[in-house]
Amino acid sequence: MKVPLLDLQAQHATIKDEIRAAIESVFESQIFILGPEVEKLEKAIASYTGTPYAVGVSSGTDALLVALLALDIGPGEEVITTPFTFFSSASVISRLGARPVFVDIDPSTFNIDPALIDKAVTPRTKAIIAVHLFGQCADMDPILAIAKKRGLKVIEDAAQTIGAEYRGRKAGSIGDLGIFSFFPSKNLGGAGDGGMVVMNDKTLFERVRVLRVHGMEPKYYHRELGGNFRLDALQAAVLNIKLPYLNGWSRRRQINAELYDRLFQETGLIEKEYLETPQAVYRTGGDKNYHIYNQYTLRAKDRDKLQAHLRSKSVGNEIYYPVPLHLQECFKSLGYRTGDFPVSEQAAAQVLSLPIYPELTSKQKNFVVETITMFYGARP
Ligand SMILES: *Cc1c(COP(=O)(O)O)cnc(C)c1O
Repeated sequence: MKVPLLDLQAQHATIKDEIRAAIESVFESQIFILGPEVEKLEKAIASYTGTPYAVGVSSGTDALLVALLALDIGPGEEVITTPFTFFSSASVISRLGARPVFVDIDPSTFNIDPALIDKAVTPRTKAIIAVHLFGQCADMDPILAIAKKRGLKVIEDAAQTIGAEYRGRKAGSIGDLGIFSFFPSKNLGGAGDGGMVVMNDKTLFERVRVLRVHGMEPKYYHRELGGNFRLDALQAAVLNIKLPYLNGWSRRRQINAELYDRLFQETGLIEKEYLETPQAVYRTGGDKNYHIYNQYTLRAKDRDKLQAHLRSKSVGNEIYYPVPLHLQECFKSLGYRTGDFPVSEQAAAQVLSLPIYPELTSKQKNFVVETITMFYGARP
């Protein structure tokens, strides 16, 4: 048996005809740059996330970049984020000449620990990028409270978390600006790169829209230095077909997660402290935290050996992320050292993400759990 980490072909098979027709219709129109498909997607994402404004852009990374540009972040300024995330959450800060200031994570969610933010704020701090990692929102209420007290803007990096909820609010709609990525491995994946910025404020919306097309308004009059950050009409057409399926797909990821949780519990591996399954905080009660499991990420004892074992049995898996950002070569000049963010460093050494995609079969899920049980089974 083979269990890939992600099987996009299985998903595509279910919507092939609709996708073909949508692509064909863009070709018939020959409108490839912005246009009606992009506008339709922007309206749909705005409505889906409960925000009045959405702007389609070229990638999740560019969405973050444009969001920072719209907040006028630049040299001499600082932006707070975590070191346990995908590279983009911090690289965009440096790209604008500002300084990423890292704050460690909460070990139960892998998201920024709000209790540590206040200490990291300086007179140069302008914003917080709250990353919603693996499909679960960061604890936004205390983050917003600190931001308000210190006069900071909040960007939600919801690249992995479209459709997740935090206390009844949709990811991306909670801070000043929210960003999504349509990279193919995200819960809503395009046929290539794409992204979206959502926001509640009209002035920010107009700014983002102009920044997306070279800071140009009207045509050939450039107000400021924007870029080419446009979303392709072909991507929007594909995403317009996929969006209505998103909740169903995410639901199946949740069902898979619940099954893994139960099966791992039954193996006894959690009790023996070989494994920790991911925690969906606030899962119960009125403050339901709607985790959408872009990744199902374990903490595992002897992680690297377990990974090799899974590979030998053709069970897909990945380490998100093996090197925390403060220890990346390109951020050396920031002056951080090993030991500065112990919770992130420990996570990097322990985490392993398993196949969680919606089309997994029961047999595959059982095989994943059996293969892991086999690995630890030989131990006392
Ligand atoms: C995927 C991702 C991004 C970047 O999105 P791209 O569309 O690949 O540029 C940013 N932040 C996080 C947390 C991501 O997972």
